[in-house]
Amino acid sequence: MAWIAWSLSSGFARSKRQRCLVKPMHQWSPRSFIGGHPVLDFLNTGGGDTKARDVERLEAFSDVLTWAAAASVIDATEYTALARLADASPRTGLHCLQEMRIQRESVYNFVTAAIEQKPPAELDLLQIESSARAAISHARLVPGPAHHSKWQVDFSDAQLSLVKFRLDLATSALVTDPAMCHVRQCETCSWLFLDPSATKRRRWCSMAVCGNRAKALRHYHRTRAT
Ligand SMILES: [Zn+2]
Repeated sequence: MAWIAWSLSSGFARSKRQRCLVKPMHQWSPRSFIGGHPVLDFLNTGGGDTKARDVERLEAFSDVLTWAAAASVIDATEYTALARLADASPRTGLHCLQEMRIQRESVYNFVTAAIEQKPPAELDLLQIESSARAAISHARLVPGPAHHSKWQVDFSDAQLSLVKFRLDLATSALVTDPAMCHVRQCETCSWLFLDPSATKRRRWCSMAVCGNRAKALRHYHRTRAT
């Protein structure tokens, strides 16, 4: 998580007055990365204490960049290049942010439907399909060791859509992978995580937060009933 401190200290060079006018970036903590997969961590940038998706952590495009750096979706050089480009093209950055929020909620709906063994909504399916096609059209197939090749998209090909295209490719890989059967949802909130254990006993995104909240609620109801 060294990226978190780095990304928050070395972003845009702004004057004192500009810094006062700019909303502070969201601060990512280790709890922001409990999903066990970058796509699940991305989905967990939305949603608060309940099942409602009523908390937004990607409030500005700069939040997308600090999150992507902290999640190792982009490296330090890419962060710097993207931050400069976003500073020069704020409207394009805002458009990209809006596209990413729409994509995130479509993937969230698709994944939660799969967990509940329900068919996905047609609109979510089409959104994920079209995003994967767009990302692949900007990617190159890079042969790797042991017959394992991968789709790679670079800053020069994607510009401000780099984070989105990488997540779209990762989403395409995740939803077509048998590992999808290990995706679980927290019993208390909307967050998602991978639980590859045989017992599937993990019930909460975080024992320290949602687990303790559920225990406190059970205790409250028990003491009220007595
Ligand atoms: Zn939770």
